[in-house]
Amino acid sequence: MSDHLRREDSDGTADRLSVFREQLDGLTRQTRRRSLVARAGIDFSSNDYIGLAGSERLADALRDALNNGVPVGAAGSRLLRGHTDPHAAFEDKAARFFGTEAALGFGGGYVANFAVITTLPQRGDLLLMDALSHASTHEGARAGRAEVQLFRHGDVDHARDLIQAWRRAGNTGAVWIAVESLYSMDGDAAPLDQLAELADQHGFLLVDEAHATGVYGPDGRGLAHHLEGRENVLTLHTLGKALGGSGALVCGAKCLIDFMINRCRPFIFATAPSPLMAVAGSEALDILRDEPWRRDALRDHVTVFGAELSRRLPQLSVSGSQIVPLIVGPESATMDLAARIQQRGFDVRGIRPPTVPEGTSRLRVSLTLNATPADVIRLAETLEQLWPDL
Ligand code: PMP
Repeated sequence: MSDHLRREDSDGTADRLSVFREQLDGLTRQTRRRSLVARAGIDFSSNDYIGLAGSERLADALRDALNNGVPVGAAGSRLLRGHTDPHAAFEDKAARFFGTEAALGFGGGYVANFAVITTLPQRGDLLLMDALSHASTHEGARAGRAEVQLFRHGDVDHARDLIQAWRRAGNTGAVWIAVESLYSMDGDAAPLDQLAELADQHGFLLVDEAHATGVYGPDGRGLAHHLEGRENVLTLHTLGKALGGSGALVCGAKCLIDFMINRCRPFIFATAPSPLMAVAGSEALDILRDEPWRRDALRDHVTVFGAELSRRLPQLSVSGSQIVPLIVGPESATMDLAARIQQRGFDVRGIRPPTVPEGTSRLRVSLTLNATPADVIRLAETLEQLWPDL
């Protein structure tokens, strides 16, 4: 062992490493992730809902950009030399596309959620989150300044009660309501209109459209498309799911976006996302407008899979969206079932705690255009054959 390592040992490295090892050993055979599972089988697990990740159009746009001298790396933060023409053009286009005053790009949805929530809600405000919000929102809440409360998933009455109790306690700050428009693990939609009404009375609505952008609304603008342009609504659109690339956009009023540019540490102190990703995002928005057939074909998948499942496994409830969680319950039965389905050539993954609550382990079937209509029917048949008798 080198002197360097020995010195760190004496400073507590060895102790800490042995605690990590013990914790890993304590995980059961089922729950321990020894390696990442590579792609194999027909895609029923990605978020590439409308099949853009491997599309010729995105690839051509990137080849053209490279041929025209767009650099691979931004080589600096946006406030310094990292701001390039493709970033500016993409954000202008995105603001027009989503009908907002301004848009701001980030390297991913996780950091964008974290960034918004640690920057905009202030001390004295209330951040009121749906309990099933994404981990990035929870992490932002922990690191942010506002008081945090959770309302029961999708329950507007509970949200209203919490706000009223907070007001009765003498609080006068703004309320920031944070939700997903389509929940990533349950595939259900938020009651956006009622939440927007609450936000109109008390503050702001933050809508994470990660799983809805590109799939729902006119031109795939998302489930909150009718709320965009309001000064108290901010939407987050990820580029790594239906849009086929990586990165994210925060769209809303110019004042909020300007405040982010001036005050948001994850924006200010990070290297700008690759200009190529801005090129890909920009092309993806054009594809959303030019190729509505993609959304129609995905909707057909949802209808067919729902009908097949209701007929074959009537005990299961289906979400009605492209995200179809099939709750098994126990973790090990879920992972065994996923493995058996994978052996039949379908890439279906099991989801277990901590991603979902204990006892609600599930297959998360994700419908995408990377599967054909015949594949969708064959998966339903396979599920019927293999579904465990618990
Ligand atoms: N929000 C939601 C609802 C998500 O499901 C995800 C991705 N799992 C994110 C944000 C993070 O987005 P990204 O993958 O672009 O970091």
